[in-house]
Amino acid sequence: MSEQPIARVESLRKSFRGPSQGFGRGYAELRAVDGVTLDVMPGETLGLVGESGCGKSTLGRLFLRLQDPTSGRVFFEGKDITGLSQAALRPLRSNMQIIFQDPYSSLNPRMTVRAALAEALHVHGLAESASEERDRVAALLQRVGLRPEHMRRYPHEFSGGQRQRIGIARALAVEPRFIVADEPVSALDVSIQAQIVNLLSDLQAELGLSFLFIAHDLHVVEHVSRRVAVMYLGRVVELASSEQIYENPRHPYTKALLSAAPEPDPKAHRKRLILQGDVPSPLDPPTGCAFHPRCPIAEKGLCDREVPALRVIEAGHEVACHLA
Ligand code: SF4
Repeated sequence: MSEQPIARVESLRKSFRGPSQGFGRGYAELRAVDGVTLDVMPGETLGLVGESGCGKSTLGRLFLRLQDPTSGRVFFEGKDITGLSQAALRPLRSNMQIIFQDPYSSLNPRMTVRAALAEALHVHGLAESASEERDRVAALLQRVGLRPEHMRRYPHEFSGGQRQRIGIARALAVEPRFIVADEPVSALDVSIQAQIVNLLSDLQAELGLSFLFIAHDLHVVEHVSRRVAVMYLGRVVELASSEQIYENPRHPYTKALLSAAPEPDPKAHRKRLILQGDVPSPLDPPTGCAFHPRCPIAEKGLCDREVPALRVIEAGHEVACHLA
């Protein structure tokens, strides 16, 4: 692994204005991302996992500067891109792409697949003639497991899995080095999920891509991620290699996420840890450790008062828990 991350966020915060707190009392603050520092290394897939509303999709967009951070810094290949205008970011856009959960909503229903992929090629000057455009579109479709003749069809003529392949082809069209895959399989049937995960894994090996792979289920990213970051209410609470996360999770939240998901190996008999209560509102996060109202081992007087910092507990393994 090279020393310099391909993408990095540092002490990143993103707040949104919440609902009004009443006459003359201003607005509540919703902290979607609350002081996250994270690297994605060249050629790796970093899994980013947490329940819905934990801020993982916002963090993915901040990595790409599709949203502006409230504070903190964003780097791409060592360059600080935090303050760059959208015009100044344009030359970098082809290097950084996103794959959405629902490709259908991001595909124009009146555009053929060829037109949708050609649009991306033309924006970045990657096809000079109609024949070059057609050849590139055909090659992209084959690369994602579709057939060249599919380029004449419209999005509604494809299944969900095929549409996600088109979304992946469109991201690949501009030859990116870093891709944020934002819950790319969450809307698909389980059998199709594995095919898409395998496709992304093959593409990574073939093209040397780096991925931030966002999912709400730890098992989805298990076989593709070199490292996994677990998020809870805007913060990273555990960051480790895949082996460490799946074989020896140390944060009670990670343990609960693992035990909540269906066991892929029925003989593993992982001890079940059931989460109590709902995810607290980010408009009114708990004091101290944000996980303490749901944590089965919370210590009164400590966990409800002091925010645990993310700290190294063994080589390559960081945990934000007073008792880990
Ligand atoms: Fe649980 Fe306390 Fe650790 Fe938070 S700091 S996860 S409440 S034990």
